[in-house]
Amino acid sequence: MSFDSLGLSAELLRAVHEQGYNEPTPIQIKAIPLILEGRDIMAGAQTGTGKTAGFTLPLLQLLSSRAVDKNQRAVRALVLTPTRELAAQVEDSIKTYGRHLPLKSAVIFGGVKINPQIDKLRRGVDVLVATPGRLLDHARQKTVDLSRVEILVLDEADRMLDMGFIHDIKKIMALLPTRANRQNLLFSATFSNEIKKLSHQLLNHPELVEVARRNAPIELIDQKVHPVDKNRKREVLSHMIGAGNWKQVLVFTRTKHGANRLAKQLVMDGLSATAIHGNKSQGARTRALADFKQGAVRILVATDIAARGLDIDQLPHVVNFELPNVPEDYVHRIGRTGRAGNEGTAVSLVCFEEDKLLRDIERLINRQIPKEILPGYESTGAARPEPVRRANNGAQEPRRGNGRTNGRHNSRSNTRSDTRSNTRNNTRSNNGASQPAQTRGHQPSRGHQPQPARKSSNKPGYGNLARILGSD
Ligand code: AMP
Repeated sequence: MSFDSLGLSAELLRAVHEQGYNEPTPIQIKAIPLILEGRDIMAGAQTGTGKTAGFTLPLLQLLSSRAVDKNQRAVRALVLTPTRELAAQVEDSIKTYGRHLPLKSAVIFGGVKINPQIDKLRRGVDVLVATPGRLLDHARQKTVDLSRVEILVLDEADRMLDMGFIHDIKKIMALLPTRANRQNLLFSATFSNEIKKLSHQLLNHPELVEVARRNAPIELIDQKVHPVDKNRKREVLSHMIGAGNWKQVLVFTRTKHGANRLAKQLVMDGLSATAIHGNKSQGARTRALADFKQGAVRILVATDIAARGLDIDQLPHVVNFELPNVPEDYVHRIGRTGRAGNEGTAVSLVCFEEDKLLRDIERLINRQIPKEILPGYESTGAARPEPVRRANNGAQEPRRGNGRTNGRHNSRSNTRSDTRSNTRNNTRSNNGASQPAQTRGHQPSRGHQPQPARKSSNKPGYGNLARILGSD
């Protein structure tokens, strides 16, 4: 299948060929003709599948083929994204694919000055990419006109709901033409009940775009678990990076505070590292990502939400320094590697307190991840500096709440959780290595036995595997 048969204009085909794309990806093959027909779509696709070109190319074609009043300043297509990084990446793609068309685009998100955005909007923007909070700020100041939006795209809709943007989305919908008078495209990695509910509210008889399940994330990624004591994880990580001469490693922690601390420790170990998470300023996040992409920094330590949507090509190594609380996040994390046909490794450092998290992950992906004990770092199960916290603690990335606060500092919560864990540390060191009864008898080196895959479960997320993996 070639791009030429998808019905795209010569200007867009030229841009695609200049990008060096030979063939459309499965999501592009299915989505582009439907969007060009003017259909609403609900597409299951995550970052890495080529979804951005899947909606950007037909969107640009539709806009450029329609006559419009030259003096119109109102936005014609609106793309909503959950994170600033994704917004910036999507707008980059719009510029790239639209380089031979006379359409104007802009990106607006919080954490940066609003005035340059106002100037841009005043000059007229055809395609606007925005995060919900800052878009509403503009709407309140009447610096954006959304009353003539022809095409609406919700990118990574599941993440937007996870991050608590539902109320903002509803407010934004009220500023748009009615849904029958606009085309609606929804992209989501998972189709939870909430997503389905949202799609009923936003879409007109959508065509469901389901691409054949992609084996790539699992098949192309060399997954491994190293059982290791929690207090030796950092040492193991430095050792692996040094001994393997890894040049570019994305490391996941569960908390912002943990990301900062680990990045600092790695630097002290003589490795170049930086952290990216929601408490960093936009400038710092952009700089960290750019440094990492260019190879100026070897290790990027990230939390799940900060990493969401990052398009880092050919990433060779992902390390789960801590397993995620939500098993689906494991699949999203390791999906950062092995992308676009490149092989990658995903290593998880698992202390025995994370056994249950590992079992949940293995049940979700329906396979046992090979265990490899690193000589000299065998897990003893004895040293337990602090228990793994499962619940939302203050230092964790926000999953709910007002999206506008995403990215802002929550120092009080951080301090609280730090104090808690320090207290625990002190108490424990006074108590020596004694262990609570429920952890006795743990045999980390035996390996973790996954439960048989369940067909269905009431637990959120189970049964969604095909959707999570089902991209291209
Ligand atoms: P996305 O899923 O939109 O984040 O895209 C992931 C990556 O795939 C981006 O770096 C795109 O430049 C690239 N890409 C998109 N479409 C194609 C294609 N047809 N062939 C090769 N690479 C592509």
